[in-house]
Amino acid sequence: MVPNKAMPTAKRRPDPIRGRKPKVGPTVGFVSLGCPKALVDSERILTQLRAEGYGLSLSYQGADVVIVNTCGFIDAAVQESLQAIGEALEENGRVIVTGCLGAKADVVKRAHPRVLAVTGPHALEEVMAAVHSQLPRPHDPFIDLVPPAGIKLTPRHYAYLKISEGCNHRCTFCIIPALRGDLVSRPSGEVMREAEALVASGVKELLIVSQDTSAYGVDLKYRTGFWGGRPLKTRLRELAAALGNLGVWVRLHYVYPYPHVDEVVALMAEGKILPYLDVPFQHSSGRILRLMKRPASAEDNLARIRAWRSVCPDITIRSTFIAGFPGETEAEFRELLDFLEQAQLDRVGCFAYSPVEGARANELPDPVPSAVREERRARLMQLQEKISARRLARKVGSTLRVLVDAVTPKGAIGRSAGDAPEIDGVVHIDGGGNLKPGDFVEVKVARSDTHDLWARCVATRTRTRKHVLQVE
Ligand code: SF4
Repeated sequence: MVPNKAMPTAKRRPDPIRGRKPKVGPTVGFVSLGCPKALVDSERILTQLRAEGYGLSLSYQGADVVIVNTCGFIDAAVQESLQAIGEALEENGRVIVTGCLGAKADVVKRAHPRVLAVTGPHALEEVMAAVHSQLPRPHDPFIDLVPPAGIKLTPRHYAYLKISEGCNHRCTFCIIPALRGDLVSRPSGEVMREAEALVASGVKELLIVSQDTSAYGVDLKYRTGFWGGRPLKTRLRELAAALGNLGVWVRLHYVYPYPHVDEVVALMAEGKILPYLDVPFQHSSGRILRLMKRPASAEDNLARIRAWRSVCPDITIRSTFIAGFPGETEAEFRELLDFLEQAQLDRVGCFAYSPVEGARANELPDPVPSAVREERRARLMQLQEKISARRLARKVGSTLRVLVDAVTPKGAIGRSAGDAPEIDGVVHIDGGGNLKPGDFVEVKVARSDTHDLWARCVATRTRTRKHVLQVE
């Protein structure tokens, strides 16, 4: 196999639109080794680089970073690939390795510890993530059709950030794995790049979502990615800590109570991310959880909740439950009510079991009649309303930081650390007429009901301005 060290370069031609010369952006050098399949991978990477506005360099010296697409088919090819990486390191110093030899990352790292990132073959997204983390994607407002943060359907000050797709579990009431497949985590560098772009575009709160947030990185064996030139593991704790450094609110959704979630709660106690955990417990009866085939069904969830609260007393715990799952007896339902009494969760949603077409739970014996399912759901929510009202009443008199969502003729509506948009309550803010959506404001809580708080504005604080509106 003959190494093809040609580094195709993009000649800077005059822009046919208005005769404008294209802006000189970051430039990538490329060494392509190996078989035609590797060549196709190289072509895809080069095409994507050009589509995103990167320049291509024919020389090592003209490149900001060099990608080496390697071959690892036989020993001679391995040696040739290692030599090519060494040459690129010597000539340029900033090297990303991909291709068949990249599948043996330990071999590459042992020979060349200075390489910036290593991916296996056919890994366009990971290579691009490594490039983005070393050389931020150039944005040209004249030719890019979308803003750097993409097109968002949420208000400008908050955004959902999806960190993975699919799910490795097979809960019997759920057909998501059949629809979306097994877990596929996004590389950590790619997630961070999107988060940075969102923050740069004015987002003040990042809502982390996936099907199973705790499982982030399992499919990639917690591989080390790169962000800002530094290694960053594809793992929830590490990702949450990095997101927490962006200076905005970070809120975690759909976190299953695996043991390593304790590390994430510690980050909440340190103030790195919001003290808010959305944990879908679904039930408390061991038998029903096993029938549901829930992840972490063997965990002692009450003990976990107590432990989380001892580490982070301000934590808001939200959960969802299913009432009337097939086979659920009245005694098992009461067990669930007892659990709620003891757990004193802050926010709870409950669905009456609904037989989704294709779900295996539909084949379970002893289905609960529809009227009983509904009646149990109503009983659960009645109990939870009392718990929720008691927990919110404890906040009266305290001072909270609130993110303003909307401004009304009477004041403003916002959310505290304990309120996720759309699903939790809100804080009605009296006073502070010159607030605007996206402002952070300090409020003193005057009263509460089952879902919401009412408060008076104490002070606003945004990154660019600070002024006292009213001191009580
Ligand atoms: S309910 Fe959640 S954890 Fe269970 S299979 Fe569906 S997506 Fe996965």
